Amino acid sequence: MKLVGMLGGMSWESSAEYYRLANELVRERVGGLASARLLLHSVDFAEVERLQAQGRWDEAGDLLATAAAGLEAGGAELLVLCTNTMHKVADTVERAVSIPLLHIGDVTAAAVRLHGLSRVGLLATAYTMEQPFLRERLAGHGLTVLVPEAHDRAVVHRIIYDELCVGVVSDESRRAYREIIGRLVAAGAEGIVLGCTEIELLVDQTDSPVPVFPTTRLHVEAAVSAALATG
Ligand code: GLU
Repeated sequence: MKLVGMLGGMSWESSAEYYRLANELVRERVGGLASARLLLHSVDFAEVERLQAQGRWDEAGDLLATAAAGLEAGGAELLVLCTNTMHKVADTVERAVSIPLLHIGDVTAAAVRLHGLSRVGLLATAYTMEQPFLRERLAGHGLTVLVPEAHDRAVVHRIIYDELCVGVVSDESRRAYREIIGRLVAAGAEGIVLGCTEIELLVDQTDSPVPVFPTTRLHVEAAVSAALATG
């Protein structure tokens, strides 16, 4: 089993899910006492969030690139960046290492294609919904990506940073997400990408009339498959 390097802490609420899911999946697939071989670098999210809000993406990229190089030096054989938003700097991170980065957009698009769908709604941080880095990655796999209208985007973003990233999960916010999902479906979405790693702490398949694609779970499944692959 390969050693998976996890670059997390963005936020740790979702990194904890990465850790739990990776271990559950290895136990399921291998059996017995088997558990995932993991090396985690968990950053201080306050520092990353400040750089995001100030548009200092180059510095955020350098910070993550340094952490990634440390994971490789520690023996990691593949790398997962446990956040959609920071895939904005995936190229910088990739350049800092010689091990493969398992891109969350590629993994998500593969799952959508496997369902035979091509038109998806994207729920994510404002950075991810409004900037091209993830939408274009998905489009590169033949997907059409719809995002909520401006007011709904602000609601989705606020709930991520003010609630989910600090461990608050509320019925009121779940209702708000359900309504926004409904509007995306009315606009033609055949599936909903939960394109922020905390969103699946709030909503699941029962909150959507069309298939949902939870990026944390999909990312972990792909990482575990890669770790267990022979050769
Ligand atoms: N975890 C979130 C994501 O997947 C948002 C926090 C961040 O900015 O990294 O986009």
